[in-house]
Amino acid sequence: MAPVTSTLEWLECARCHVAYGTAAPATLCRCGGVLLARYRLEEAARTMTPQAIAARPPTLWRYAEVLPGSSDPVTLGEGMTPLLPLRFLGASLGLKSVLLKDEALNPTGSFKARGMATAVTMARSFGVRRIALPSAGNAGSAAAAYGALAGLAVDLFLPEDTPEPFRLEAAVHGAAVHLVRGDIGACGRAMRQRDEAPTWFDLSTLREPYRVEGKKTLGYELAEQLGWSLPDVIVYPTGGGTGLIGMWKAFEELEQLGLVVPGRRPRMVAVQAAGCAPIVAAFDAHAPEATAWGDARTYASGLRVPAPLGDTLILQALRESGGTAIAVTDDDMAQAQLELARGEGVFACPEGGATLAAARKLAGSGFIGPDDVVVLFNTGTGLKYPKIPGLRVP
Ligand SMILES: *Cc1c(COP(=O)(O)O)cnc(C)c1O
Ligand SMILES: [Zn+2]
Repeated sequence: MAPVTSTLEWLECARCHVAYGTAAPATLCRCGGVLLARYRLEEAARTMTPQAIAARPPTLWRYAEVLPGSSDPVTLGEGMTPLLPLRFLGASLGLKSVLLKDEALNPTGSFKARGMATAVTMARSFGVRRIALPSAGNAGSAAAAYGALAGLAVDLFLPEDTPEPFRLEAAVHGAAVHLVRGDIGACGRAMRQRDEAPTWFDLSTLREPYRVEGKKTLGYELAEQLGWSLPDVIVYPTGGGTGLIGMWKAFEELEQLGLVVPGRRPRMVAVQAAGCAPIVAAFDAHAPEATAWGDARTYASGLRVPAPLGDTLILQALRESGGTAIAVTDDDMAQAQLELARGEGVFACPEGGATLAAARKLAGSGFIGPDDVVVLFNTGTGLKYPKIPGLRVP
């Protein structure tokens, strides 16, 4: 078998398309745009055959050619999570094929593990000693665990009302936890104001180019698990939007690699909480970018992102794909969490519940048809959110 290595070549600004090298840590483009990793895809295609990939270990590193740092990864076995058929709930929605990508089975219980595996791998390879980020919870947990494995110091800035299990987990892994009044936006500002800020490498969503590379493997896995085809509709709980942006990038790469048929991409649906829906508002207004959401409120902490940095990329993917954006209430999310738990045996996080609540609305409106293959995302375990609205715990 040919040796498998990364074909990472350069970084491209998503806004002004200027090129950057990959030898040193990168942040945003000088123009403020997000940097995206580019690969030698023709070279990658030579070794990335369905048969070769099928024989590799069941982690996201099986797509090594199109990942950064894959010759020496910081890994806890992330990726290759189950794609579960929701037979009971699918039938109750009048849909033939509804699948749940269950990301709760990742290390630290959420899909944030994917992005942290690649970002921490690259940070370590550059000789970074200290990483810092604002988080609503799951990204902090993942950074704490991967940072511990890589021997890095980790500073986390979390909203003071972050549920205790997230704070506990970060502390167990030895991260320094700073609690901030306000939402994740306030946490980011507090972090950047600190005197030590220049000595930290900032791992905030999309402020460095490699978290999205880990998250894009969601798209590679869906394709592989569906026999190198793509679903008709993807329903994604959108906070910062890294997974959605990553999957859209993956579909473009998969087409160029010859692994999927071009021009048959899924319709992408961004689900947000009614109490924090900047992408839904921008989508409905046909705006190219989002306006910051004032007074963001939802118990789905991963969706409490009032001003996502990747707003234009999210909106582009929704529009290019013929998709949509939709908000659901906290009550609908909670109800959907119970349905997933009681009908399908999955204790989803509120964000995962939101995708089922959205699918019900979209099946009702006709946006999703009975024969569509629909993928919902449970992005993390429900176990870290101790309160579900309306549920009495004995
Ligand atoms: C972070 C997070 C999200 C949002 O993910 P993005 O890719 O940043 O939009 C959704 N659900 C959970 C559980 C999260 O932790
Ligand atoms: Zn630029």
